[in-house]
Amino acid sequence: MTINEYQKLAMTTLSPSVSTRKDALINGVMGLCGEAGEAIDIVKKWLAQGHELDKEHLIKELGDVAWYLAETAAALDVPLEDVLQTNIDKLKKRYPDGFETERSQVRLSGDI
Ligand SMILES: [Mg+2]
Repeated sequence: MTINEYQKLAMTTLSPSVSTRKDALINGVMGLCGEAGEAIDIVKKWLAQGHELDKEHLIKELGDVAWYLAETAAALDVPLEDVLQTNIDKLKKRYPDGFETERSQVRLSGDI
């Protein structure tokens, strides 16, 4: 499965009540925050409450994050692969020789 195939498959499960691009954009960014929160909660329980790290559950929440990422990109009429490639291009420019603390602290103009 390619990244864009994932996006198309994921969007077959979009609720019919999310009927406009605006609805999808709002639902997408809210869902990203909600699912990231679910992932954080698993790590919190591991770090602060003595639970075993529930890797299987965390993997499922990461998938939920991916679903909402796909929805948000679709709302913008952008293939998910383009979002990921844009991120890699940005990081290659920021860190041409791999991560460097100074480059993470001092950004070039326009590097967001
Ligand atoms: Mg979830």
